[in-house]
Amino acid sequence: MMADVAPRSRWKVRLLGALLVVLVAGGSAAYLGWRQAAPPVRAVVIPPPRFIGLSTTFTVVVEAARGRIAQAEVRIAQGGAGAVVLTQPAPAGSRLETPVTIQGATLGLREGAATLEVWARDDYWRPLRRTDAPAASIPVTIDLTPPSIDVLAATQYVSQGGGGIVVFRLRGGDAAEVRAGTLAFPSFPAGDGGARVALIGLPWDFRPGTPLTVAAHDEAGNAATRGVPTEIRTRHFRSDRIRLAESFLETKVPELLPQRPPTQPLLDGFLLINRDLRRQAEEEKRRAALRTASHALWEGAFVQPRNTKVFSNFAETRTYLYGGREVDRQVHLGYDLASFRQSPVPAANKGVVAFAGPLTIYGNAVIVDHGLGLQTLYGHLSSAGVKAGDSVEKGQELGRTGSTGLAMGDHLHFEVLVDGVSITPVEWWDAKWIRDHIDRPLEQAGLPTLGGTAPRAAAAKRTLAGDPGRHPRASRR
Ligand SMILES: [Zn+2]
Repeated sequence: MMADVAPRSRWKVRLLGALLVVLVAGGSAAYLGWRQAAPPVRAVVIPPPRFIGLSTTFTVVVEAARGRIAQAEVRIAQGGAGAVVLTQPAPAGSRLETPVTIQGATLGLREGAATLEVWARDDYWRPLRRTDAPAASIPVTIDLTPPSIDVLAATQYVSQGGGGIVVFRLRGGDAAEVRAGTLAFPSFPAGDGGARVALIGLPWDFRPGTPLTVAAHDEAGNAATRGVPTEIRTRHFRSDRIRLAESFLETKVPELLPQRPPTQPLLDGFLLINRDLRRQAEEEKRRAALRTASHALWEGAFVQPRNTKVFSNFAETRTYLYGGREVDRQVHLGYDLASFRQSPVPAANKGVVAFAGPLTIYGNAVIVDHGLGLQTLYGHLSSAGVKAGDSVEKGQELGRTGSTGLAMGDHLHFEVLVDGVSITPVEWWDAKWIRDHIDRPLEQAGLPTLGGTAPRAAAAKRTLAGDPGRHPRASRR
């Protein structure tokens, strides 16, 4: 039968065969090409480090577009040398996310430029082996030298609720702060040669024996700390009892809680003000502290409004009585100074207004920044004549006294703050205290004094005469 097939038909069969070959070959080529073109494994490093320090941590994410991840490796390459930091064999899927911590000193590499590389491959079959290239490559600098801190001088004795200064030299670091328990006081550059200063303010209830340290780190995350040779002294504070009159609550609770439901008992409203609104004011003080100048704006001793009578002291514990029963206890963080009604309120020193406006329990308030984290607060004002950002001179009128906020009668509530921590104003009203506790450490460190309060000759004479701060009783007031 086959022999009967016409030559023309035979030609047709051949053509079909050839077409089939072409199709199969072409299909295979397309298929092979498609397999070859499958995207390679992707890798990202979060966050991409710029430095490899003594300890550097990041997260590596590896994703296979096809198949599963067969192997992943993190390396640090430097010239011809290199170190494998992490090998992750055959995880169970197409995605791998793993934290990596590099101990830079164990790499055996020198400080300087290097490359962080992530190498990874999938188990997807491709006709040709892909050219060898890392899935991620990030230029880094190996920096294994921690910052060096030299504590040059510090206030020798700092009392609970008191202030002081720490002067140190920082080399190879970007940021440094003085730590006191859970508090951290920022430092600011002073003079040349890496000298820095940090003002500190200890809360009234700061625990004596808590170490003060200077802590610094560099861009590579290398950290260093040094102890500060400051001794913390205890200080005794008074306590007071405040009887809450019905008429006081009837006036103040609606004023401070305008949204309060009418059915809420007055006492509940008062407790909300005395606790929650007080806490909100503390938070606002901390925020104001962030708007501080990086150099001292103040000049000489701080001034107290003239002809005022102190009728409440710093860190008085107040027990609140209502209907003969103790209902609350709070600590008063400033001085209450009374004169005649709506008397002028002078700026205690030169500075820039960091806050002006309503401040919960403090009513209309002004906070003046004096630089380096040092600020003063003026509360219960009937009116304020300054706004945030205004520069003010020492003694310039900021506003008038009043009884806004949680105030019984017209008076000025005055606070001194360091980085938002309230401390006793008594120290800053005293030029001698500033000379002995702020300017002397600066002089010991060979730095110019702040605010021009310490003529060199006078300071030298005092040093010869002995340090009044050495006698425990001398700093008590
Ligand atoms: Zn007060």
